[in-house]
Amino acid sequence: MTNFPEQIREWYFQHGRKLPWRETKDPYKIWISEIILQQTRVDQGMEYFHRFIKAFPNVKSLAKASETKLMQLWQGLGYYSRARNLQYAAQTIVNEHNATIPQTYKKIKTLKGIGPYTAAAIASFAYNLPHAVVDGNVYRVLSRIYAKDIPIDSSEGEKFFSSLANELLDKKDPATHNQAIMDLGALVCKPAKPLCGHCPVNLLCAAFATGTQQNYPVKGKRITRKIRHLNFLVFIRNEQIVIEKRSGNDIWKGLFQFPVFESTEPFTTALIKTHLKTKTQLSVEVTKLLEKKHLLTHQELHAVFFRVEFTSAKDFREWFNTTSYETIALNRLNKIPFPQLIKKNLKKLLPPCEY
Ligand code: SF4
Repeated sequence: MTNFPEQIREWYFQHGRKLPWRETKDPYKIWISEIILQQTRVDQGMEYFHRFIKAFPNVKSLAKASETKLMQLWQGLGYYSRARNLQYAAQTIVNEHNATIPQTYKKIKTLKGIGPYTAAAIASFAYNLPHAVVDGNVYRVLSRIYAKDIPIDSSEGEKFFSSLANELLDKKDPATHNQAIMDLGALVCKPAKPLCGHCPVNLLCAAFATGTQQNYPVKGKRITRKIRHLNFLVFIRNEQIVIEKRSGNDIWKGLFQFPVFESTEPFTTALIKTHLKTKTQLSVEVTKLLEKKHLLTHQELHAVFFRVEFTSAKDFREWFNTTSYETIALNRLNKIPFPQLIKKNLKKLLPPCEY
């Protein structure tokens, strides 16, 4: 496979993607772009990247950002632990590395939220160090070229493809090589319909030769999603709405939501009414506003939103005996970082005059 690096390099210079984080050697910007692009399409991630860099132009500004501001900027990207890990790592860099991103693969990998892929990307793109990146694109390209059926999500597969990628790496220009192989996967060796006729390495490809492209890459595990029923309560009074910040070791930590309780089965309006009456001893009016199914990687959420009105004028915190609820003016809701499930349905949940 001696021609592989030259062929993808030549192809890349003509067809590679022009992306803002490729026009810099700044390890901070490269790091931010790589974290945003995990689980996110490039076109979607672009806008987030620009906004994030504008708000936090360097490690120090990210290290001291408020959680709400951080979540606001991350809102919609999902996988919010990525944002929290970014800030944790930024604080480590400020406190332990004199605000300079480490310059070796090994040290970069010690930072929170940075695994082998991201460490290799920063090391090669920023410092031109010889470490091969292995992301979904690289797995696909290599497993097809070699027609290798080792599951890519097994430790054996990870080891095999990582060592193969490092063997093939152009050690003189690892940054270009890594970008080339990822672009080849993203633009030509696509998951569903690879454009083999336009592929610069089709003569080297075992899957193309045998017409078995769709058999690769092989995956072993199947994702099973946990089913959860979330009942959100929308309380509005005097142009104020009740919200709470999510905490604990669960999804959406640090984001806000409407008061919620979880049930093992779907809840009807009548059940909600009984539940609230038992909890507060008050009469309530309950109207179902919206039902939504929302998929996360490992969870299937069934959300139901109920508008709730109490007959008592007492402070809502007393009804539930909690201090975690707070109120916010309806016209400030746009400033609050909500999970996508709530954010994208706000207009349906609140009548236009209230939002
Ligand atoms: S020939 Fe087709 S399957 Fe093989 S690497 Fe190129 S695009 Fe992928």
